[in-house]
Amino acid sequence: MRITKAAFLTSSSKPNQCPDADRPEYAFIGRSNVGKSSLINMLCNNSTLAKTSSTPGKTQLINHFTIDNQWYLVDLPGYGYAKASKTQRKEFKLLIDNYLRHRSNLMCLFILVDSRHKPQKVDLEFMHQMGVWGIPFVIVFTKMDKLKASEKESNIENYKKALLEDWEELPEIFVTSAEKAEGRDEILNFIEQVNEQ
Ligand code: GDP
Repeated sequence: MRITKAAFLTSSSKPNQCPDADRPEYAFIGRSNVGKSSLINMLCNNSTLAKTSSTPGKTQLINHFTIDNQWYLVDLPGYGYAKASKTQRKEFKLLIDNYLRHRSNLMCLFILVDSRHKPQKVDLEFMHQMGVWGIPFVIVFTKMDKLKASEKESNIENYKKALLEDWEELPEIFVTSAEKAEGRDEILNFIEQVNEQ
């Protein structure tokens, strides 16, 4: 699948402000600065669609984009921003939890992790919670171009090991670089397959 028309639709500060759940929806989440905006722009072939922010953690809104008038792509706020206040973090958690638990057309959540880092507790705990709530998710490794060839495989293997301490089966894993436009076909083909099911 190729995206030909991607357009910003609306920003919501509450789940009940989101557009009607009238088509399949795919949401993207990850810690601040993980490369979420860059990945969304790369998938949509549009360098300015999602803002790549210089102030991480600032956006606390659910952003909906219409893709080819067929499905919604959702940019969720980044989590785990150390400089956010306790109240901000609480509000963020409430917004995201409510969205994730009640959005009936959410087909799959893309959880982004920076391929350079060791498995982080905050990400693993978040994935665990998705399991508890029964929300389907996949993992997207970002910024793979920043790794040496030798590190690529070992970092992914380490991550899988950490996952297998909590999960019996591994989720689908995508390896991407927004810089090199890697992983786009794999992610879009996956979405196409789910849409056709
Ligand atoms: P967000 O806060 O998760 O939306 O992250 P951004 O997309 O704004 O990216 C954070 C920083 O990482 C920016 O400086 C990006 O240029 C950089 N970045 C994002 N994706 C990649 C990538 O695939 N490769 C490289 N080398 N840098 C990236």
